[in-house]
Amino acid sequence: MGKYTMIDQETCIACGSCGASSPEVYDYDEEGLAFVLLDNNKGNTPIPEEFMEDVEEAYEDCPTESIKLSDTPFNKA
Ligand code: SF4
Repeated sequence: MGKYTMIDQETCIACGSCGASSPEVYDYDEEGLAFVLLDNNKGNTPIPEEFMEDVEEAYEDCPTESIKLSDTPFNKA
C-alpha cells in the first residue's frame, strides 16, 4: 500500500528543506511555498516506493510540520 503526501501551504514557511531532501516529490511555487510534484499537491497519487525514504526524511525535518503523510488519499477524486 502506497502512502500519500501533501503540503499545508497555510503553515509552510518556504524554508527549502523538503525539496532538498526529496526533489522528486516536493518543489516550490513562485512564492517559495512547497507543493507535491506528483499531483500538484492534491494528495491523491501514491508516493512511488523508491522515493519513500526521501519523503520520510523530508517529513521528519520539516520545521513546521507542514508535510502531511497518510495511508489514504487526502482528497477523494
Ligand atoms: Fe515548507 Fe516544511 Fe517544505 Fe520547509 S520543509 S518548505 S516549511 S513544507
